Amino acid sequence: MVNQEDCFNPEMELMSRREIETLQLQRLKATVEHCMNSPFYNTRLKDYGVSAENIKSLDDLKRIPFTTKQDLRNTYPFGIASVSLDKCARLHSSSGTTGNPTVILHTQKDLNEWANAVARCLYMVGLRPNDVFQNSSGYGMFTGGLGFQYGAERLGMLTVPAAAGNTMRQIKFIKDFGTTALHAVPSYATRLFEIMQQEGVDPNRDTKLKTLIIGAEPHSEEQRRKIEEMLGVKAYNSFGMSEMCGPGVAFECKEQNGLHIWEDYYIVEIVNPDTLEPVPDGEFGELVLTTINREAMPLLRYRTRDLTRILPGDCPCGRQHKRLDRMKGRSDDMIIFRGVNIFPIQIETVLMQFKELGTNYLITLDNSPKGDVMTVEVEVNALATDDFGRLATLQKEIISRLKAEILVTVKVRLVPNGNLPQSEGKAVRVKDNRKTLYNS
Ligand code: AMP
Ligand code: ZN
Repeated sequence: MVNQEDCFNPEMELMSRREIETLQLQRLKATVEHCMNSPFYNTRLKDYGVSAENIKSLDDLKRIPFTTKQDLRNTYPFGIASVSLDKCARLHSSSGTTGNPTVILHTQKDLNEWANAVARCLYMVGLRPNDVFQNSSGYGMFTGGLGFQYGAERLGMLTVPAAAGNTMRQIKFIKDFGTTALHAVPSYATRLFEIMQQEGVDPNRDTKLKTLIIGAEPHSEEQRRKIEEMLGVKAYNSFGMSEMCGPGVAFECKEQNGLHIWEDYYIVEIVNPDTLEPVPDGEFGELVLTTINREAMPLLRYRTRDLTRILPGDCPCGRQHKRLDRMKGRSDDMIIFRGVNIFPIQIETVLMQFKELGTNYLITLDNSPKGDVMTVEVEVNALATDDFGRLATLQKEIISRLKAEILVTVKVRLVPNGNLPQSEGKAVRVKDNRKTLYNS
């Protein structure tokens, strides 16, 4: 059970369900009222006959229409904001691969609350002012940079804003500055370890690393365990997205059994992505979030497209804030292959069970005269790559276990360590070269 000293903000972290829900209702009403200042929401809420007065219970949330990424694009750049620009202190923008990018505005109060949320998360996993926190995220528009920076400073740690890339320098900083906690995307954590190995650096012997914060991209439990073993650390899953500030939305506690979502900041719903009806706790669906502690740009019932579920039951840590299961991926990550729906994470889960395999893999989809072909390339780790007999046996075993998981036969290519493309930010796991209905 947690006590006051284990919490950065005991007043909020130790609330009972009743207290959480009372606060949520109060903040929801205030948010809906405030949204009337937003040109977008003013029209939208009036069209649906929603006002703060007719929100009488949390159940009334359902009266509010969903907000989508398309709404953010349509109102680009400032059309959803609920305050005038002179009240804003910063914006973050996501790259627009299709159509307009999206913009998220923050007031100084929003930035403050964001830093508090991140500090709360880092404190929850045991980080304290005497820790040295290194951040290997890109700084700039990607919220993993500044988001963690201000949160770690708020907690009072010595921060090392190393930013993305330059792995040799990253390792030097870890060694020279006595870094105890590192934030990295999971694929980069692996990369870091590979370079350490090449350079003869043993993380257990030569560094003080003990805590790793990993997030920003889907990863399996198996990959987490591999990373923990490689670097000799405890790795905690961190979930966030630019639309909700960035990091600090949901975070694992020391129990590592799901991510507490801070319900004094967000109201969480899981809905069936087809019917948009809420699903019961324990069932997977699309995560929908309502911000109830934001000034510049609150978002009501925002469809995140991330697929997860609420874990039923209480967390042994004692915090009553609900827990999300690790993300299965986004609805747009789903591969439709020969009529079967497959998430890359299902493939990863199988691959990570083989100790001979590294953590880097790439799924490629191609057309062929006989139908679509899926090739899974994965780096071989602990096996001599010239032992063709062993490689052939391993390859067969992977194909058969993948078939048992995803029900289709795929090609598997084992490649030497370091041969697949590496990215400094989020890893690209799927290359779809098909010309089909789905992506033409
Ligand atoms: P961005 O707004 O660019 O930071 O991207 C946010 C998206 O990254 C989320 O909507 C998720 O799809 C993904 N993401 C962030 N954190 C995690 C995590 N811990 N596990 C899985 N996916 C994540
Ligand atoms: Zn917990």
